[in-house]
Amino acid sequence: MRRPDLVPDCGNCAALCCVATSFEASDDFAFDKAAGVGCRYLMRDCRCAIHDELAVRGFPGCVAYDCYGAGPRATRAFTGTHDAEQRNEAFLVLRVVHELLWLLTEAAKLCPSSPDDVGAQLALEIEVLDAIARGPAPALLEVDLRPHRDAARALLRRVGVAIGDRRRAVLALGLAPRAPPPRP
Ligand code: SF4
Repeated sequence: MRRPDLVPDCGNCAALCCVATSFEASDDFAFDKAAGVGCRYLMRDCRCAIHDELAVRGFPGCVAYDCYGAGPRATRAFTGTHDAEQRNEAFLVLRVVHELLWLLTEAAKLCPSSPDDVGAQLALEIEVLDAIARGPAPALLEVDLRPHRDAARALLRRVGVAIGDRRRAVLALGLAPRAPPPRP
C-alpha cells in the first residue's frame, strides 16, 4: 500500500492540479490551458464540473493524473497566505518530489538486502526527499530537482539489478497503474 502522505486527497486540496499545471489540446485534453490559470470547468468550491464525464468529454489526461499527495501538502503549506503564484510553483516542485518518494519507497519494498547495500542508499535518498518535502515552503522554489531525478534513476537501476530482473522493476515501479484523482 502506498505511503499515506503520497496519496491524493482532493477533499483537502485547493484543486492545484486544475490551476498550477498547463496542458495542450491533444488526445488527453480537449483544449489548451496555461499554467496558473484555473481550468474553465473548475468550480468555486474547488470541484470539477465535469468530473464524472472527464473521459468522454476529452480529458483522459485528468483521469490518469496523480499528484502523489503534493496537492494537499502545498495547500496546507500556503493556507492563510495569498501568494497563489508561489503556491502553484511549490506544488509543481512537490509533485516531482512526491513522485520520486513514491518510486523510491515502493522500490525499497522490493529490494532485498544486498551486498552493495542499495537499501541503505534508498533510505538515505528518501530521507533527503522527505526533508525537502517537509521543509519550509519558500525553500521549495530554490530546489534543483535534476540531481534528485538522476539519483532516483540510478537507484532504481540498482534495485532492478538487485532483484535480478530490471524489466520487472521498471514494470513494477515505472508503469504501475496510476490512481485517478478521487475528486469528490
Ligand atoms: S489530484 Fe486531487 S489532491 Fe492532487 S492536486 Fe489534484 S485536486 Fe489536489
